[in-house]
This record gives sequence, C-alpha cells and structure tokens, in this order.
Amino acid sequence: MALVNSVLGPIDTKDLGFTLMHEHMVVGFADLYQDYSELLGDNPLERIVNELKRTKAGGVDTIVDASTTDLGRDLNLITEASRLSGVNIIAVSGWWLEIPKFFQGASIEQLTEVFVREVDEGIANTGVKAGILKAASDYGEMTAQAQKILRAIGRAHLRTGVPIMLHSYSPGEVGRQQLAVLQEEGVNPAGIKLDHSNDTTNVEYLTWLLEQGCYLGLDRYPGRIPSPTARTNTMKTLIDAGWADRLCPSHDRSAINYVNTDWRKAEEERSVYNPHGYLYVKNVVFTQLRNMGVSEAILNNLCVTGPRNFFESA
Ligand SMILES: [Zn+2]
Repeated sequence: MALVNSVLGPIDTKDLGFTLMHEHMVVGFADLYQDYSELLGDNPLERIVNELKRTKAGGVDTIVDASTTDLGRDLNLITEASRLSGVNIIAVSGWWLEIPKFFQGASIEQLTEVFVREVDEGIANTGVKAGILKAASDYGEMTAQAQKILRAIGRAHLRTGVPIMLHSYSPGEVGRQQLAVLQEEGVNPAGIKLDHSNDTTNVEYLTWLLEQGCYLGLDRYPGRIPSPTARTNTMKTLIDAGWADRLCPSHDRSAINYVNTDWRKAEEERSVYNPHGYLYVKNVVFTQLRNMGVSEAILNNLCVTGPRNFFESA
C-alpha cells in the first residue's frame, strides 16, 4: 500500500481514481487570497466549490493543485474547497518561476529543509502536508536560482519519497537540462513528471523523455498553440507507441483566474472558450481519442493508471 498526502489527510493510491495532475484553484501571488481577496471577485471560495462539485459529478475524483507560494498557494482555501466539494486535492511544495531575491543567499540545503518540512510536518501552521514537489524552468538557459531550487527539490524527493512535477518549456526541450540536474542529484526518472509536455508536438523529444523513465504531463488543454487537435494527435501517437500508462492528461486550468477589471465578463469569456472547465479532457479529448480508435480499456485508465503509477514509483 502506498499513501499520498491530500489536504484532508493521506489517501491510498488505489483510491485516487480519476486524477487531474496539474490544475489550480487560484493563480496569483503569495497571500493574494488572504490579503487582497477582493481582487478575485465575489465569493471566490463558493465559485471554486461550485466548479469542483460540477467536476466531481462529471467523474473526476482527485486534483493536484500546482500552485506554489509564488503562484498564490493558500492551504486554508484549498482545504475548504476539498472538504466542501468532495474532490481530493493534493497540495504542492516547491517553487515556480517567481524566485525572490531573498532566496539568493540561501543554500541548497536550507531550501531542501524547507521543502522536506512541508512534506513531513506540514505547510505553515496548517498541518497540511504536501503530496508532490515542484520546480520550474522556462525558455532559455536554466537560471542559477532555478537550478538551486531544482537541486533542493531533488534532495527533498530523495529524503521524502514524494514525486516531482516540473514546469518545463517543452518547445525548447528544457526537460533535458532539468533531467540532467536531477540525475546528478541521484533522482530516478521514474519519480519525475515533465509538465506542459503537450506544448510541443515533437514526438521524438517526448519519446526520449519517456525512454529515460519519466512521466509526461499532457496538461495544457484546450490550449491555442499547438491547437487542441494537434495536442490530441500527439497524445494518440504516444498511446499507439505503448506509453498510455505514463501519460497524465490535465488542463492547467485555474478555477479563479488572474485579476480582471470585470471578473464576471472574464468568466463568461472563459466559459465560451471552454465550457467544460476541468472536464474538457474527459468530455472532449476522450471523445476524440475514442473516435480515433483508442480502446475503452485505455480510456478508462488514462487519468487513473499514470497518476497512480507515478505516486507509487517515486
Ligand atoms: Zn500550472
């Protein structure tokens, strides 16, 4: 039996069910929800819970909330959202791209201690334990600060056994650099998921990552460039090559999006763009895959087996 920390306590990996491995409740910045919640429009918790209830009714059991502190992580918010909606939510430890100057003097070991504490003891004073670790690199060369956090995440993984999700700029194949750094730290690629891998259609690169032993987050949907259809064609190619058990389709959606001068209008526009919300993969992408000839057996397991294997293999 393997256990994963959700915000409401440990759950058995066999009970994760249909899991979306990269989403957000709120995307913003540190303490946005506590300090400036009026910027999020009316009743943000209620709006999140309503969307999660719809998502649960549509067949999603578990969501990884990929918001780190620099993306507005708020444990009280997501714990309440999980309790009120019935969706299991897994919180993340680590850092995204907004690395504060304050960190420049920190050692890898100091950062490792912080991330380990968030997994083993809990985040801030909430008692909620992180279930996954995150680091990020975007286009261009990996910065020194990003590399320091990545090494700390690798060391925290080795100490806690909690797997790693990487924000990764797949069109620039930055995953090659991230993987090399983590392998220098002694991390087995089976504990690593390269996220935003469907921002490219480069099957050769994606296959290379899979051959190293990594998981792939095909977690940007609907997306614009590449188009949703191109993303799904790429997924089909990988499924046909036998990689279905290592793919983690998701949306990188945020129930509450960036601050907007008119949040109601912004939400209307978003719902025209994607009326399915967190159910786009299940409702739209799976239908397309079915029509392309993907078997029911594979579709039934696509957001189940990959996530479960990932949490068990770390
Ligand atoms: Zn994200």
